[in-house]
Amino acid sequence: MLLAKSTWPEIEAFLGRSTAVVIPIGSNEQHGPTGLLGTDWMCPEIIAHEAQSGADILVAPTFNIGMAQHHLGFPGTISLKPSTFIAAVGDWARSLGGHGFTRIYFLNGHGGNVASIEAAFSEIYAGYSFSGQRAPFACRLKNWWDLNGVTALANRQFPSGHGTHATPSEIAVTQWAYPDAIKAANYAPQIAPNGPIREALDFRARYPDGRMGSDPAQATPEKGGELVKLAASSLISDLAAFAAEPPV
Ligand SMILES: [Zn+2]
Repeated sequence: MLLAKSTWPEIEAFLGRSTAVVIPIGSNEQHGPTGLLGTDWMCPEIIAHEAQSGADILVAPTFNIGMAQHHLGFPGTISLKPSTFIAAVGDWARSLGGHGFTRIYFLNGHGGNVASIEAAFSEIYAGYSFSGQRAPFACRLKNWWDLNGVTALANRQFPSGHGTHATPSEIAVTQWAYPDAIKAANYAPQIAPNGPIREALDFRARYPDGRMGSDPAQATPEKGGELVKLAASSLISDLAAFAAEPPV
């Protein structure tokens, strides 16, 4: 069930069946010469939408702008500062928490978001701790590649040249969902260099075409479909375990 395609009475009725909600969260940022700018928000959205097509779970609108300051040297990247992002994540969670959702599950598609999402959870909880109140909801962060079995499958599909940015696995997922948007390029070198992440001009100098350690030419829609099916079924299990955590 998609929140954006539901009415408020339908959400009120859903709350009678479940108080868990999934929020796909990612980033709009460069993904090398062939990866779509939306890759990092598309992947968790694709997986969450696939999961809700076969299960009675609720998926909120995708939080599609993340903490991507290091990619701002490439046209099309849109980023929030960590402080802005942390504040926005808190407002999203408190909005839903105020309606009775007790389990707020962020399915993340961008490694650069992780520190700020964790900080956002701490800010949320701190608000209750400092006022001596119980938090009415709990938050969970899961990167889609950390869903059960997904990294193992990606390692089998891409034993070398997976890398950490503009990876063949994430590009394969978008190829499966959006076959009309598949791009091609000659990669030089075939496998991109790896190294640290600092500010945007340093990033562009180290990684001239935007990739980190990856060979996206290995991506295929078929491999993407395998990843989506596995990730969607693992998401359903992981969400069920989170939802079943006993209240304290
Ligand atoms: Zn990515």
